[in-house]
Amino acid sequence: MLNIVLFGPPGCGKGTQSELIIKKYNLVHFSTGDILRGEIKAQSDLGKEAKSYMDKGALVPDSVVIGMIGKKIDENLGAKGLILDGFPRTTAQAEALDTIMKQKGIAVSGMLALEVEKEELVKRLLLRGKESGRADDQDVSIIENRIKVYDNETAPVKNFYSAQGKFVSIKGMGTIDEIFGRISSAIDSLK
Ligand code: AMP
Repeated sequence: MLNIVLFGPPGCGKGTQSELIIKKYNLVHFSTGDILRGEIKAQSDLGKEAKSYMDKGALVPDSVVIGMIGKKIDENLGAKGLILDGFPRTTAQAEALDTIMKQKGIAVSGMLALEVEKEELVKRLLLRGKESGRADDQDVSIIENRIKVYDNETAPVKNFYSAQGKFVSIKGMGTIDEIFGRISSAIDSLK
């Protein structure tokens, strides 16, 4: 299986690029943010718990998110591969993913990290908030908190994959097509 961790700060383009990747490479898209927003919409217990963290721009606890992934991987073991979008976001999540995948005889093929400057992230997120109505994209202080959480808790996950020789940095500035071109070359060299 071709299992790709698409990584980067909020607003770096993970969602947009995931859509293009799944079409070109026929992979299954797995976004923990999308799943959590679905749970909130359905007003499930998990959704209610997640909302209190997401509204502040904080991370949902590892135990909750890790619990969601085993089932998703099981359901898609016959697929060509997975795009993990927004997961793992902590080193504990990356370690848990490794353990779960090992048990199933699969592995992460590579981490592609989209690098975008902070000013550009804030601009993109505010625009997305206006267009989509997404609550955590409409308030500058929540956006700044999410970027801070990314710097402190999520960015260190790069070291985890770097130590395994699986880390690829990708310039996330430019047009959607330019960035997709860089991603495609990186994926082709993983295959
Ligand atoms: P996203 O759509 O990926 O930007 O995620 C939106 C929000 O969902 C984040 O700000 C977190 O509160 C929560 N979230 C999504 N994925 C994770 C994860 N892997 N670990 C913890 N919280 C997450």
